[in-house]
Amino acid sequence: MAIGDFHTHSTHSDGRLTPAQLAELAGRNGLQVMALSDHDNTAGLDEMAAALHARGIRLVPAVELSTDIPGSEVHVLGYCMDTADPSFQRVLERFREGRIGRGMRMIEKLRGLGLDVSWERVQEIAGDASVGRPHVALHLLERGYVSSVAEAFDRYIGRNGPAYAEREKLTPVQAIEVINSAGGMAVMAHPHLTPDHEAILAELAQHGLAGMEVYYRDLDDGEVRRLLAIAERLKLLPTGGSDFHGLGNPGEREPGRIPLPDEAVERILERGARCAQPFVAVPA
Ligand code: AMP
Ligand code: FE
Ligand code: FE
Ligand code: ZN
Repeated sequence: MAIGDFHTHSTHSDGRLTPAQLAELAGRNGLQVMALSDHDNTAGLDEMAAALHARGIRLVPAVELSTDIPGSEVHVLGYCMDTADPSFQRVLERFREGRIGRGMRMIEKLRGLGLDVSWERVQEIAGDASVGRPHVALHLLERGYVSSVAEAFDRYIGRNGPAYAEREKLTPVQAIEVINSAGGMAVMAHPHLTPDHEAILAELAQHGLAGMEVYYRDLDDGEVRRLLAIAERLKLLPTGGSDFHGLGNPGEREPGRIPLPDEAVERILERGARCAQPFVAVPA
């Protein structure tokens, strides 16, 4: 069990636990520091900071941005930026809006395939979260069209699925610039899931990328060592997290149940201390 977790999602994006429920789980799992990294949204940070503070846990502010490269995606995590920065928030707002149009197009495609689904219901499931494909998947699940979230991706809304729709995304370099301009540090999320990640990391390291996830979820020793060697060669900060969503996906790990060593946590916090907002202040 790790003392830190730098990648989690709440009901403010596609996670199924509220910040308060996530904080409770973090407390049970003995975490000392944690990041909330909702997709395109920082609205959960204040609630999370207060709920974690009550358990003696510190919150690192974070966000996860999806970016496009030809044929694939790169997710960029931003840490410790000034989340009040207006141009940073304008970017997040634009991407949350893009998610709405994209969600409506996916529902149209699903209806075109003869499925009885509705955008209104997806919105109900998402609440005020930045809406994502998992919300569509949950709707398909409740209607009995699939028996798991993963199956919804496999059959309908995965990148090559018949109901997939695109939305406007940044390039990875643009995402790094957005995070760095707000005084944060940019980290490539789950690089092992992107084909050719070694070449991509080398390129992004030239464009202001600060780190990469190495100690991710349930990665085994061999994979961690392989990624760590890349991080060392490119002088990237090795980070790690569970990417916990509470969606019951295969391989899902609870916050802190990850192979992240204490020394790596120390290094992440040392590097974060140079950023605009190393920890979220607890709201009065
Ligand atoms: P979106 O941001 O709307 O494109 O949706 C991407 C999110 O869907 C990811 O952050 C994961 O939470 C989830 N996801 C992506 N691929 C899968 C999959 N194959 N099975 C289950 N969940 C997935
Ligand atoms: Fe997600
Ligand atoms: Fe991701
Ligand atoms: Zn994530």
